[in-house]
Amino acid sequence: MINCRNILKVSNGLVKQLKFARPVVCQTRGFLFASPKSSPLSALVPKHIIRPEYADSSEPAEASTQKPRIYNKEEIVKARVAGRLARKMLDFANSLAIQPNKYTTNEIDVLTREEIIKHGAYPSPLNYRGFPKSICTSVNEVVCHGIPDDRQLTNGDMISIDISLYIDGFHGDNCGTVICGGVSDNEKDQNAQRLIDVTAESLDKAIQVCKPGSCITEIGKAIDIVAANHGFKIIHEFCGHGTGELLHMPPFVRHFTNNFKVEMKPGMIFTIEPILVEGSRRMHTWRDGWSAATLDGGRGAQFEHEVLITNDGYEILTVPESEY
Ligand code: MN
Repeated sequence: MINCRNILKVSNGLVKQLKFARPVVCQTRGFLFASPKSSPLSALVPKHIIRPEYADSSEPAEASTQKPRIYNKEEIVKARVAGRLARKMLDFANSLAIQPNKYTTNEIDVLTREEIIKHGAYPSPLNYRGFPKSICTSVNEVVCHGIPDDRQLTNGDMISIDISLYIDGFHGDNCGTVICGGVSDNEKDQNAQRLIDVTAESLDKAIQVCKPGSCITEIGKAIDIVAANHGFKIIHEFCGHGTGELLHMPPFVRHFTNNFKVEMKPGMIFTIEPILVEGSRRMHTWRDGWSAATLDGGRGAQFEHEVLITNDGYEILTVPESEY
């Protein structure tokens, strides 16, 4: 998930300003000292795990070109491993999140990070532009980039967990929404389930337009039709993105009707990750600098898959083990 406004900044050539706006020294108890070489955040991951380029600096590399990368056979094998592991870890995190009054999102973060490390991978969000945790947990009116905290999940909470990880030089990335405690008969839960079902359906319809020669704008169109049919709004501020050697790279995928044309070609890998909300799509960012929440308090749902364009269609890289 990438903020579309950041992309505009990149295309306007302003990205360097952003870079230099970041502090290179930090001050504590009145002393100035240079940033440590190894970030205390990435130190949460043992040294033998291969890290992405930003793990210590917090500065992700930029793609050298706006042209989408075409991956070769060997690279696709690695991307598939990363995608499938990301899905496995998402299923693990969700299995914790659905249990009411048991885990805080902080505890889910720690347990999932340990699980990711156990599988030989680095949790991609950790220290990405300074993100303080290993996963994103977006609860209820927080629709994206929620930071795990000390609040325990309880019956009826809607939670979107975004898992991305880095293994053998490749990122895998996916997201899904669940209802803590499962769905009950009450109206609130029924509405949550409907939002979840429609969001998942919109992703499904979007994936079905993916094939060589198809235009990436077809994705937004497909999501728009499903959302409009059910009276849900789409969040515009966050995009799907190319992924693989970098966490976020071209092509960028808008989830609403748009005119940012890119032709799909075999070997491209990108995410599709629509967020639908039950009320208005107007949102703001919390003072933590990350959590994106609806202004009206309406809840959101998000599903994300990583899609490879093949010679005759697509392959979903973030499939569960039963579909390998
Ligand atoms: Mn993503």
